[in-house]
Amino acid sequence: MKLPVGDSFAGEVLRNEGSMSDAFSERMRLIRFRRKKERILLREEVKIVPKWLVWTCVILWLAAVAIGVLVNLSGVNGPMFPEQLAGRPVLASLALAGIITLLSAMAAIWLMALGYVYRDAKRRGMNAGLWTLLCVLLSWPFFAIGFILYFQVREPLPYPCPRCSTMVGARFNFCPNCKCNLHPSCPNCKREVAETDKFCPYCAQELTRRQESGPELTRSAE
Ligand SMILES: [Zn+2]
Ligand SMILES: [Zn+2]
Repeated sequence: MKLPVGDSFAGEVLRNEGSMSDAFSERMRLIRFRRKKERILLREEVKIVPKWLVWTCVILWLAAVAIGVLVNLSGVNGPMFPEQLAGRPVLASLALAGIITLLSAMAAIWLMALGYVYRDAKRRGMNAGLWTLLCVLLSWPFFAIGFILYFQVREPLPYPCPRCSTMVGARFNFCPNCKCNLHPSCPNCKREVAETDKFCPYCAQELTRRQESGPELTRSAE
């Protein structure tokens, strides 16, 4: 029996060096791999934003336009805005309504994005409150950085088990229904590999894909 002593020793040294960053980058690789399989449709994603939030935004926008235009026309606030259109109340009202709509749209997009993050984090089993708070806190002065961060690191969605199609969480190690190994590892270097990898990305070991041969028949213990 020939043992690849030199190779495994080199592998050991490499593995011990910065195993922390290795574990992190490996985790990120798997998260990206899972997320790549998610079919994200904007039309479907928009539905996640709570309906009450959308209606609240619409009502607030209409109220803001109505109040703004009425106050402007009443003249309580001094001369009509914008001053160039002081003699033409209809045009002035339209201009003001346009400005209010623009500002409202920006505020509404921000609020709905927060609503999306909350619901999305929840269905991915992440800390929804914390992520929403982080997005709020980082919105100013670092415009949208919280959202960008969220989309980079968010956990994958639950996905169907490759063997029995039961929905399993991205953090599960085994399928609770059929005991399928959801995080297969390389038989040579023991690192986690993706189901679709034909060769181990770390040691080039050829990986056999048992999942494709269909459901494995396991005799029950009893
Ligand atoms: Zn299963
Ligand atoms: Zn390997």
